[in-house]
Amino acid sequence: MLKYIKNELFMEKVSLLKLAKKYDTPLYVYSKGKIESNFNLYKKSFKSIDSIICYAVKANSNHGILKILANLGAGADVVSGGELYRVLKAGISSQKIVYSGVGKTSSEIEFALKSNILMFNVESFEEVQQINKTAQKLKTKARISFRVNPNVDPHTHKHITTGKFGSKFGIMYEDAFELYMKANKMKNIEIVGIDSHIGSQLLDITPYKLAAEKISKLIDKLEENKINIKYIDIGGGLGIKYTDTDKPQHPLNLRKAVMSIYSKYKNKTIIVEPGRSIVGDAGILLGQVIYRKTTGSKNFIITNVAMNDLIRPALYDSYHNILPVKKTSKNRQIADIVGPICETGDYIAKDRSFPIIEKEEYIAIESAGAYGRAMASQYNSRPRGAELLVDGSKVTVIRKAETIQDLMSKEI
Ligand SMILES: *Cc1c(COP(=O)(O)O)cnc(C)c1O
Repeated sequence: MLKYIKNELFMEKVSLLKLAKKYDTPLYVYSKGKIESNFNLYKKSFKSIDSIICYAVKANSNHGILKILANLGAGADVVSGGELYRVLKAGISSQKIVYSGVGKTSSEIEFALKSNILMFNVESFEEVQQINKTAQKLKTKARISFRVNPNVDPHTHKHITTGKFGSKFGIMYEDAFELYMKANKMKNIEIVGIDSHIGSQLLDITPYKLAAEKISKLIDKLEENKINIKYIDIGGGLGIKYTDTDKPQHPLNLRKAVMSIYSKYKNKTIIVEPGRSIVGDAGILLGQVIYRKTTGSKNFIITNVAMNDLIRPALYDSYHNILPVKKTSKNRQIADIVGPICETGDYIAKDRSFPIIEKEEYIAIESAGAYGRAMASQYNSRPRGAELLVDGSKVTVIRKAETIQDLMSKEI
């Protein structure tokens, strides 16, 4: 997807230097081909079993990207009414939409019921009561699954671990059976599934298998009690390559791991909710060096990319590989690559060995397609950059850059 041609970085057949100059930076650039091949990897890997691949929209919710996925037959995992609105607009079939999240409001629930989504992944007893009530008001039945926390540790960063005891997500494994029995008595609730999403950026397959073993025991117990489970949602979370040592798992390994447990069931559909592994390595963020300076023993490369554009390093301590858009020097230095925001946490890379780079030259931050623009803010009154889609030699603007006037557009 990325390669140097005569020391200049290209995405597919497009010069990133030209894009940076034409569209200004910060600039998010995505490869259409890479998004498609990432999605098709899941599609192929799960083809032999009944399955729905529900893209986790929160990773990147741009309309242009959702349309690519809709065209490939993707479903969606949404976590807000806003995301539901987006996926319907992109043409994703409502019968392939699942709705997760611990705090669905009654108006969001109403919107989802009116849209006739496939199911709600319910995360508390009060939530299922609310869904029952809203469904009653609309004279309909809500299809639900419970998101069960299987209490396995995926060993990822503490902020992206969700399937462990003490996390706010899901219901406790130990409480699940009782909650299913209670929900089963509710008039406007139809139980159709079970769900567990254990975390994000998983580079190990074992936690999925451990979760499946526990969930399967619960399914058996539920079915003995005449609660039929049609959908098994195994969540998302497969990791991507951020550092040179990261070894991402192929979706086929995920299928094999869960099916080693679930293949004993007939007439069940597996739902997968990948986000990061669809868009993460398909996108980069371009920025420009504003100044360089040395304070004490430290070198700083100050760029126009800040934590408001890509918050992952500040939030999760995460590593992003960075490339010079034009290779000019073979000499390297150790430097912090930082943004202009007035926070010590505003950095893109710490103590990074990086080629000597001059003022006004451009950098490309890799693996910024997931949780990049989607988490971007206007903090420090910084307008957010454009988003582009590259397809071979074709470039499409899928979101225009914000202007400084946009910053005040809703203020009175
Ligand atoms: C965030 C999330 C996902 C996607 O996680 P990735 O690590 O991006 O694959 C899937 N399901 C739920 C419920 C989520 O909250």
